[in-house]
Amino acid sequence: MNRIIVEKYGGSSVGSVDRMKAIAANVVTRHSLGYKMVIVVSAMGDTTDDLISLMNQIAVSPRHREMSMLLSTGEMVSSALLSMAIQALGKSATSLTGPQGGIHADSVHTEAKISSIDTRRILELLERDEIIVMAGYQGKVGDDITVLGRGGSDASAVALAAALGADQCNIYTDVNGVYSADPRVVPDASLLDCISYEEMIELAGSGARVMMGRAVEIARKYNLDVLVKSSFDESSGTLITREDALEKVVITGVAANTDVAKISIYGLHRNAHAILRCVAGLNVNIRLLTVNEMPNHETNLSIIVHPDEVMPIRQKLDELKRSEQIKSYAINTDVAKVSIVGSGIATHSGVAFDMFDCLAEAGIDVFMTSTSEIKISAIIPKHAANDAVRALHTTFKLNTIKRKLAEA
Ligand code: ASP
Ligand code: MG
Repeated sequence: MNRIIVEKYGGSSVGSVDRMKAIAANVVTRHSLGYKMVIVVSAMGDTTDDLISLMNQIAVSPRHREMSMLLSTGEMVSSALLSMAIQALGKSATSLTGPQGGIHADSVHTEAKISSIDTRRILELLERDEIIVMAGYQGKVGDDITVLGRGGSDASAVALAAALGADQCNIYTDVNGVYSADPRVVPDASLLDCISYEEMIELAGSGARVMMGRAVEIARKYNLDVLVKSSFDESSGTLITREDALEKVVITGVAANTDVAKISIYGLHRNAHAILRCVAGLNVNIRLLTVNEMPNHETNLSIIVHPDEVMPIRQKLDELKRSEQIKSYAINTDVAKVSIVGSGIATHSGVAFDMFDCLAEAGIDVFMTSTSEIKISAIIPKHAANDAVRALHTTFKLNTIKRKLAEA
């Protein structure tokens, strides 16, 4: 038998020596069944956050190259230790860094994307019946190492599974899978058996932190089924797959993202497009945007960005104000984005109405909205985020939602 399984273990799943030993035992069991095993690991526990805090105590804005050097170490520790734990059980295992494993990335240090994977070394090792333990979250750029952005081990695992033509790609984490809402906020949230790539990407971008959104995009691109499950509970799990493999539903989930800031720009004297170009030149990611023509022919613009992006934008807006290209601006970080996601939104009328009706009834102000084929978002006061999630979960009866494979 020649089947390959790629398994990724997140920080809490490799958070202690005991966890490493437990995982090693499971990996060895599957290997003994005849699978070729490629394991991708994250840094132990909160290691990456700890490294960032060390860094912040030393330098205000260190060079990105050194940040990559620092942040890539956490995953290397995990891969070496897990490899030893497997060896201690009498099996051959080889730990590899991203560069050693043939993962090439583009040149954006600390937020790099995987550009290609040279699988030769991994395939050779698998041929020799080695279990591979790869450090996630990293790749090679030129002669250097780079890291792939927070949560990047998911991307490492999915890209490797695609490149190797793996039979299975399992992402092990500390939650049982993908829920219709954050179970800490909505205790009767439903664990979904399945979800489509598109819905998962939207949920990841809307505040559900189960898996890195970019990793799901890679899975969609290669049409790779991904199973997200808990390393603490083998019976759990949500399969991320193609929409047309699933039975239809209208709404699948609701999520709130409090990592947003709203910037309103008033009295644009150039067209909105020119102002936006100035802001976009800062390499910020505008998540939501509205343009209002006022009765006096002035234009106002509101954008939603990550709070980390407010500072550079503020500097730009001060410039634009000084040169009288805008009248004024206001920044509000006390907002949240609440979104409902579901592939039935495109085909069912009235969903947006039900959503805004529900928020109004709960007494929650809505400052901005946006709709797409599979998502409707509202910008609301931050303090109302959890209430909004609970109210919407009830309105759309998500406590009984079932997302299942369609009968073939
Ligand atoms: N250790 C990195 C992080 O915490 C990468 C990962 O966990 O996937 O973001
Ligand atoms: Mg981590």
